[in-house]
Amino acid sequence: MYESWFSDRAKRFDASGIRKVFDLAANLEHPVNLSIGQPDFDTPKIAREAAMEAISGRRNGYTPTQGAAELRGVVQKQIDAEYGEGVREAFITSGTSGGLLLALMALVNPGDEVILFDPFFVMYDALVRMLGAKPVYISTYPDFKIDVNKVADAITDKTKLLIFNSPANPTGFVASEQEVRDLTQLVTEKGIVMISDEIYRFFCYDGTFCSPAKFSKDVIVLDGYSKCYGMPGWRVGFAHGPHEVMQQMLKFQQYSFVCAPSVLQLGAIAAIGTDMTDIFNAYRHKRDMIYDGLKDYYEIPKSGGAFYAFPKAPIPSATDFVTKLIQEYQLLVIPGNVFSSRDTNFRISFAASDETIEKGVEILRKAAQACRGNL
Ligand code: PMP
Repeated sequence: MYESWFSDRAKRFDASGIRKVFDLAANLEHPVNLSIGQPDFDTPKIAREAAMEAISGRRNGYTPTQGAAELRGVVQKQIDAEYGEGVREAFITSGTSGGLLLALMALVNPGDEVILFDPFFVMYDALVRMLGAKPVYISTYPDFKIDVNKVADAITDKTKLLIFNSPANPTGFVASEQEVRDLTQLVTEKGIVMISDEIYRFFCYDGTFCSPAKFSKDVIVLDGYSKCYGMPGWRVGFAHGPHEVMQQMLKFQQYSFVCAPSVLQLGAIAAIGTDMTDIFNAYRHKRDMIYDGLKDYYEIPKSGGAFYAFPKAPIPSATDFVTKLIQEYQLLVIPGNVFSSRDTNFRISFAASDETIEKGVEILRKAAQACRGNL
């Protein structure tokens, strides 16, 4: 009966794909869980203590919309050091997701076309639809590399914006400096706005991270501390880009999130600069465990970053394969159609203990053999 209450906006997208997986998984007693999109390490102690201190020190009020002066100061200094003073303005957002919503609200009109690389992070597609704009997918299968010629072909007079994400969720793809340069050059020439989601920038296993902001001052960068410091529930992120765009985004923050959680902004400052090298090295090892363990059994591009791999299912429907993994082996992974217009691959998250990864690899080998046996 509530159907008639819902806005057209609400009806434009659903969350049924991922919910189905969790419904299936709800009955499992001891699942082997490789489905989680958040770090398995804890928030640095120094940050936890700083957040508790902020609470007992009565810093519980609102902060300015652009963020607590202390945190914003630190972030702005880092951005100035990287890109030059006065080039880019930074402010604190309610997570990278919050920044993404603000940027799209500020930049996208109904009917605009927004280019997404397919597979994509689920939120991109949902937010673009929510705003009445049209996602235009550029397939990156089978190796998930971006092809600048395909982007050039997809541009029409309705194209407003492109969302770029490297290292990427769900594929683990990391773009090379040349690829980033070529893509940035193309969108700049064509007058298309570029958003770069850099939340996984510290998780690069084989090379160095390269931001498109290196090649254009106009790129809007969204980033946050959820993944690199293991604080996804804190909802602290930041955005940086041209002053005028940041001011438009701030208008929406003022009338929605108001500010990122005050005491957690103060906690996050303490985390900045913590040496996470051991953890990132451990994640490289987890990447290797997945890749080395599965490469003879699956078509699986080697992830260069983030904490995901996106192999091809051994049967045509990834949803059927994932259902089988859950029901027969109690292994949780996510079917690719949650992140894509195709249902051929599935996402493995290696943000898990080595022991869980070992179990998962063993199950996936068995399942691949079983499927082959049935062909
Ligand atoms: N972007 C990508 C590509 C992500 O994978 C995620 C988290 N899964 C986010 C943004 C959201 O991050 P945050 O916690 O900072 O909102």
